[in-house]
Amino acid sequence: MPPKFRKSSKLIIAIDGPAGSGKSSTAKVLAARLGLPYIDTGAMYRAVTLEAMRRKISFENTSDLVRLASEIEIRFGVMKKDTQKVYVNGKDVTKANRTPELTKNVVYVAREPKIRSEMVKKQRLMGRKEGAVMDGRDIGTVVFPKTPYKFYFDADPKLRARRRYKELLEAGKRVPMSQVLREIEERDRSDRERKQGALRVAKGAMVLDTTGLTIEATIDRILAALKGVL
Ligand code: C5P
Repeated sequence: MPPKFRKSSKLIIAIDGPAGSGKSSTAKVLAARLGLPYIDTGAMYRAVTLEAMRRKISFENTSDLVRLASEIEIRFGVMKKDTQKVYVNGKDVTKANRTPELTKNVVYVAREPKIRSEMVKKQRLMGRKEGAVMDGRDIGTVVFPKTPYKFYFDADPKLRARRRYKELLEAGKRVPMSQVLREIEERDRSDRERKQGALRVAKGAMVLDTTGLTIEATIDRILAALKGVL
């Protein structure tokens, strides 16, 4: 039996790590178990990118991008099985939010400090409402640095690339593995090197290498670390 959780305590569980480290698959199951909302902050940076592409805003046009980031309304639907819908200004963008073209462009949005500040504001509002399992790159370092429940996932880059390759295949895209690996490494580099919200292990975070771990085993480690809180 999963442990009973006191909903009123508004827990924030922060999970950071590079692409393909298993954050979202674990976070979704964990959130469902604990009765907490799951907040996928990567989907928020993706949503701004998608809307910029739709409105044909150039990625060089920082002021329009920042305005878009402050005005955009991003909402997450209720989790059904292991999928959660993403709505932008009331429109379902779940599928459009994950195309490979968009994934390549997110970097232009994620590197801009003023856009990050807008996203962080929204993420804090969402998290403070009912608590959350929130995953991303800067949750434990910037968004909720005071939460005592921080985790940093990592995994062998080759395995991360294989996970991404499988995801792409499931979405009907066949991309050579060497290209997937190269793109993952590029994304890691830009995530680690940006000025604000760079990917790094937050102070006090528990580091989990998920290379040899199933989702269940990963969740067991997290629940063990949360023992006493639940
Ligand atoms: O997690 P996901 O791959 O969907 O994230 C998409 C992109 O959004 C990442 O490449 C990352 O650069 C960016 N991101 C970010 N900060 C977050 C979450 C994601 O910069 N908190």
